[in-house]
Amino acid sequence: MTDKRPIDANALYEDVSRMGLTNGSALGRHSGMADAIAQMIQDAPTIDPESLRGHAKWEKPENLAFIIVDGPDDSHEEPAIRCSNCGGMIPESDFDKWVWNYCPVCGFIMEDATNE
Ligand SMILES: [Zn+2]
Repeated sequence: MTDKRPIDANALYEDVSRMGLTNGSALGRHSGMADAIAQMIQDAPTIDPESLRGHAKWEKPENLAFIIVDGPDDSHEEPAIRCSNCGGMIPESDFDKWVWNYCPVCGFIMEDATNE
């Protein structure tokens, strides 16, 4: 996970530009700096929020299983598939039915989304 911080650049731009000479601010010599900062905010690149989402992998730990109840006196064990980030687990039969692009618990992007 990156340490970038999403902010509302438009609100910041409005606040800073109000202090600039171009908007008639009476802040003296610092008003020119406010105009320069407002321009820097306008020129700053926009971050795709999806690029901030973390990445994880599906793991199949040994000796970790679900006990699936099939009926009143019937059950079976299945290996558990676990998220490397949060430890959220899915029974193998459910894991095999779908493509898990994202962990349903923590929302991280799974680098090995298919079970191949
Ligand atoms: Zn997770």
